[in-house]
Amino acid sequence: MNRVYLISTGYELLSGATADSNAAFLTARLMDLGLQIVGKSTVGDERAALETALRSATAAADVVITTGGLGPTFDDLTKIVACEIMNCQLEPRPEEEQRLRDYFEARHRPMPEINLRQAMFPAEALVLENRVGTAPGMYLHKNGKILILMPGPPREMTRMFADQVEPRLKLDCGLENQVARRTIKILGLGESQVEELLADLLDDQEGITSALLAVDGEIQVKLALRADAHDPNSGDRLEYLTGLMRERLGKNVFALDDDTLTSKTARLLMQQESSLAVAESCTGGLLGKMITDLPGSSSYFWGGVISYSNAAKQLYLGVDNDTLTRQGAVSPETAGEMAQGLRQRSGVDFALAVTGIAGPEGGSPEKPVGLVYLALAYQGGCKIRELRLGLPDRELIRIISAKSALDLLRRHLEYNQGSTGGDK
Ligand code: ATP
Repeated sequence: MNRVYLISTGYELLSGATADSNAAFLTARLMDLGLQIVGKSTVGDERAALETALRSATAAADVVITTGGLGPTFDDLTKIVACEIMNCQLEPRPEEEQRLRDYFEARHRPMPEINLRQAMFPAEALVLENRVGTAPGMYLHKNGKILILMPGPPREMTRMFADQVEPRLKLDCGLENQVARRTIKILGLGESQVEELLADLLDDQEGITSALLAVDGEIQVKLALRADAHDPNSGDRLEYLTGLMRERLGKNVFALDDDTLTSKTARLLMQQESSLAVAESCTGGLLGKMITDLPGSSSYFWGGVISYSNAAKQLYLGVDNDTLTRQGAVSPETAGEMAQGLRQRSGVDFALAVTGIAGPEGGSPEKPVGLVYLALAYQGGCKIRELRLGLPDRELIRIISAKSALDLLRRHLEYNQGSTGGDK
């Protein structure tokens, strides 16, 4: 009972207006549990498409998880169609109706009668309480299949999953004996490069399952060990395999398990009592946001300059007009001057700079969309890196650029501190 199929619903996902963060979140969490994702689909608000997706999902997997389409309006069809497929009758649940009425009363709003649709569930289903919204979810274990319906808004879905779905899934899928997991997080290598480096280690290894996952430019290797009471050494095998993989992946491994690129870099900065400032062009403040997402960052983060225009690069960072006109704003020379200029002006130990073409417009054959230069200025030197992110996705280019800039610093702090030599 470990094959899972995910279905995300909503027209805005189909059109690409909203990124499917629910599927990304669920994939990571389910893989952590050692479950296998056998398929994913995205459907709009059309009944026939939803029905087809649900039928093929229930045929292909033991566990089907949907998000979205649980609202009160007539285009919110997930529960109705899912219940038809599972041969269940929707019936009113008085306690759910009361909960809805209380919800509206507490907000001094009249409850539209149409909302009562949200208080209908099959008798055999478990209602998943929505602690941050109105649409409850549903958990149905019937005829050897588990069907889980959750609301679309990520804040509601993630909370429902963590509090109510995950513990139940562990029980129903017999995963509670799975004691050990490790995640290896990698930047600087593509998924296929990681796969090639680890090819022989990724096959099932005596009770350890592994999976590769690509998340916003990071690659994660997820290892899960099924505990075996008769084998006290199984934990050692997991550690041994993790060590072997880390060795092969080298400096590209930036963190393990719940550690993140930001927290790892922050720790290194604090250990070395160093300070940081950032000069951002194409990332427009994203790098600063990533750094300040971590509480306590004021102890090492000076701040940043969003120097989007040439004028700002000159005025706030001291980039030479000649450099901008001869080499262009997106060039290794400009990146270097941005970082060095900011380091000088702010007096920090390290200054990072990012300049690039995030697209969709602005590319040329010599400087295509996705061309990004990163610079790290430090006492005694400046490292420059070029990224060629052949992607048509502005948001992803910005995310990968910001992460790669931080990773440039992480590598320097971890491997090159004290030397002026370049790392690879
Ligand atoms: P509610 O009625 O409470 O909004 P719902 O279950 O009907 O819940 P939807 O209407 O499908 O949810 O989605 C609500 C919003 O949640 C969407 O407009 C979108 O912003 C966000 N959303 C839905 N699905 C996803 C997803 N897979 N990833 C990221 N955001 C999503």
